[in-house]
Amino acid sequence: MFKPRLEGKVALITGAASGIGEEAARLFAANGAFVVVADIQDELGLQVVASIASERVSYFHCDVRDENQVEQTVNYTLEKYGSLDVLFSNAGIMGPMTGILDLDIQGFDDTMITNVRGVAATIKHAARAMVARKLRGSIICTTSVAGLLGGTGPHAYTTSKHALIGLVRSACGELGAHGIRVNSISPFGVATSLSCKAYKLEPNEIEANSSAIANLKGIALKTRHVADAALFLASDDSLYVSGHNLVVDGGFTVVDHSYSPN
Ligand code: NAD
Repeated sequence: MFKPRLEGKVALITGAASGIGEEAARLFAANGAFVVVADIQDELGLQVVASIASERVSYFHCDVRDENQVEQTVNYTLEKYGSLDVLFSNAGIMGPMTGILDLDIQGFDDTMITNVRGVAATIKHAARAMVARKLRGSIICTTSVAGLLGGTGPHAYTTSKHALIGLVRSACGELGAHGIRVNSISPFGVATSLSCKAYKLEPNEIEANSSAIANLKGIALKTRHVADAALFLASDDSLYVSGHNLVVDGGFTVVDHSYSPN
């Protein structure tokens, strides 16, 4: 029998108009959560909410680069649904695709502002709300295999995702005293608007490229697999898991195929 794993919980998801965040919004709602879909793409975000068609799901404009908007989004969530149990801080950009010799410095800053400072602002305001209400909340951030390995993404992106893993560990250290868990998810390459636009490829080409270098064969990584990991970290199934980076990469970051006994 299907047992909803987030029944009655209130979740705020940034970057939820598309890709991994959208999939998580659908999955969280299907598991009984009240969900605020937050993004800068208003039209897409409203479409996602309309297609989920539940009074438990609503859209709120939030640019994570603007701390005031982040605070307003947290306040909206509290006013609309009366709580904030889960923050899925997922919004991110790929940033400039230039090499280090041609590093786009402004693009580097922009990437850090969205992927690191933006996430820090969401943790700050969500955690304030959780601490003030004595909520044993769960905070989840989307990093990447590029947060663990060089050479798996452009420089600014790789730097930002490494930093994010540090931020998660740091926040985990402080918020544990309040019963708040802080974890991250590091996906391998998945076909979304972010990866398709950055590499100028169609979704099936992104999947083919990822599958070609993947360790785990016979299955292509989908946004649903990443959303499943977020659901685990959001739910009471992971009640004692904190400071963990859940790598959703089929073993890519822990295996080097240069040695083969066969
Ligand atoms: P996506 O482009 O489909 O979704 C990202 C969403 O974030 C978009 O809806 C976008 O509008 C939103 N966003 C961007 N800047 C924002 C801002 N300043 N404020 C609020 N929202 C903003 O891409 P995705 O692949 O689903 O990306 C989600 C997360 O997953 C990102 O953090 C990304 O770095 C990470 N990730 C993606 C991959 C991949 O291969 N697609 C792999 C590892 C990690």
